[in-house]
Amino acid sequence: MTTQTRKVAIVTGASRGIGAVIARQLAAQGFAVAINYASSASEASALVVELRQAGHQAIAVRADVASSADVTRLFDETEQQLGKVDVLVNNAGILKVMPLAQHSDELYEQTFAINTRGTFNTLREAATRMNDGGRIVNFSSSTVGLNLPGYAVYIASKAAVESFTQVFAKELRGRQITVNAVAPGPVATELFLYGKSEEQIQTFAKMPPLERLGQPEDIASVVSFLVSPAAAWVNGQILRANGGLV
Ligand code: NAP
Repeated sequence: MTTQTRKVAIVTGASRGIGAVIARQLAAQGFAVAINYASSASEASALVVELRQAGHQAIAVRADVASSADVTRLFDETEQQLGKVDVLVNNAGILKVMPLAQHSDELYEQTFAINTRGTFNTLREAATRMNDGGRIVNFSSSTVGLNLPGYAVYIASKAAVESFTQVFAKELRGRQITVNAVAPGPVATELFLYGKSEEQIQTFAKMPPLERLGQPEDIASVVSFLVSPAAAWVNGQILRANGGLV
């Protein structure tokens, strides 16, 4: 166990997309960061090198958030190498757009395993292993407010995350740990862009009154706020960040 000098943050799904930018911003805020990933080992290692070269503390930990054993090991390795956890960002997630009637059993299970059970696994672990005074940020989606065709299973998996957020904030009474969720609108990452035509992408980009897609930085700055002392009184909330889409 190292002597803990910096506060410690775990960011799930931080090898790329929004999670990688969150990891950069939290490191810049002074956190030692555990970069979790499932399969993108080279991206996760490159991010660790980048952060260490900039003078930050960072490690990469492979763990499938859908596996409770992997999540226990994620906390074990983080504690051993960085110290006890102060911040948990449950960013890992998948999206497969498909009408409900065409969803296979496997795809339904996979979406709920990663988006919903993955969040459940880390929250359960966090309950006994996080420092008092910590911060938890879960990831929902603004699609919960839009109810778009093709998104039923994804939306349902994220609606459950919103419920976890609101109840878990109350269950942590006395610990001074806040639990909130960010619910982004469309953000220009592989998760959103994959499989969409340029026309479909532009249609989404024009939907919010601010008339553009979100960038990972737009969402990472909301996370930075929620884990900062400035957000001490924000608890049990779902914060939609989507340019005014819904
Ligand atoms: P992304 O670019 O596809 O990145 C997803 C990240 O999650 C990757 O680092 C991936 O790592 C990781 N991941 C996937 N399955 C995992 C698992 N089983 N265990 C651990 N890590 C896993 O996605 P993104 O757009 O950044 O999305 C981040 C979050 O924002 C998700 O929860 C998503 O639902 C939410 N969100 C995104 C948008 C959007 O428009 N982009 C909108 C609303 C909400 P590997 O490559 O190693 O698998």
